[in-house]
Amino acid sequence: MKIVFQLIWLKIDEGFSNLENFLAVVFVIGAYVVLSLLFRRLMYGPIQEKAISVKNYVIPSKNRTQIEGVLSKYFPYYLALDTGLKKSFILRVEVFLEIKQFIPRHMNGNADINILIAASAAQLSFGLKNFEILHFDKILIYPDSYFSSIREQYHQGEVNVKMKLIILSVKSFLLGIQDANDGINLGLHEFAHALNIDAFITRRSLFFTKFYKEWQFFAELEMEKINAGQSNFLRKYASTNLQEMFAVCTENFFERPAQFKEAMPELYQSMVMVYRQNPLNPKNPLQL
Ligand SMILES: [Zn+2]
Repeated sequence: MKIVFQLIWLKIDEGFSNLENFLAVVFVIGAYVVLSLLFRRLMYGPIQEKAISVKNYVIPSKNRTQIEGVLSKYFPYYLALDTGLKKSFILRVEVFLEIKQFIPRHMNGNADINILIAASAAQLSFGLKNFEILHFDKILIYPDSYFSSIREQYHQGEVNVKMKLIILSVKSFLLGIQDANDGINLGLHEFAHALNIDAFITRRSLFFTKFYKEWQFFAELEMEKINAGQSNFLRKYASTNLQEMFAVCTENFFERPAQFKEAMPELYQSMVMVYRQNPLNPKNPLQL
């Protein structure tokens, strides 16, 4: 851009000797505008986010009573919501249950567990228009830790980009939900990875990718502090890499928002912008 301005200044300084020079400047500015718009579109996808409405999905309403029952009993995030938001939350849970394949391994399928898994995804993406995490279409559910042939060790959960899988151990998943204030939540952790990857692969979430870059700035500063032993609010595992940092930040953002904000206000605010919600307003987290 500096070069463009220098060129324009040179021409103004010299005086436009002829029409040809003037047209050349107009062409350079025009080309710059078009190229930067193209670059922006390539980086962030379409300028306007187009959300798929929950109304576009055909949802079997026979499950609604069961979903309400399970969430009222076990899901504090849902319980705290205003009545109107409870309805939108349930719709998103229904869509998620409908569009994902839940595959139990070495155990029987359990509808209540599927509902809680879908609710964890809905919690995470409640502020986002594109909430379906489309890249991942299957959720593999193990009763306990499982042997991952990819990483050759036992795991509680992971996401597999190539196979489009999200994998969870029920035992750890339920432990994460049972204690809703300890900053450890396997469901939120794995869905944070999935959402993060999905946003960059499908390029459907303009706001997410835009604000993620701002989040990254504060996150990298915090990772340096963790590695230097100067910060211990987040567990050490967060500084493994940027993806783990995002997943661990997500767990703490939802489970310990007040302490998070007090310890790292800028990082907290950047999480609010990434997720377009503020867990410090439990009745209406969509109020930023
Ligand atoms: Zn992780």
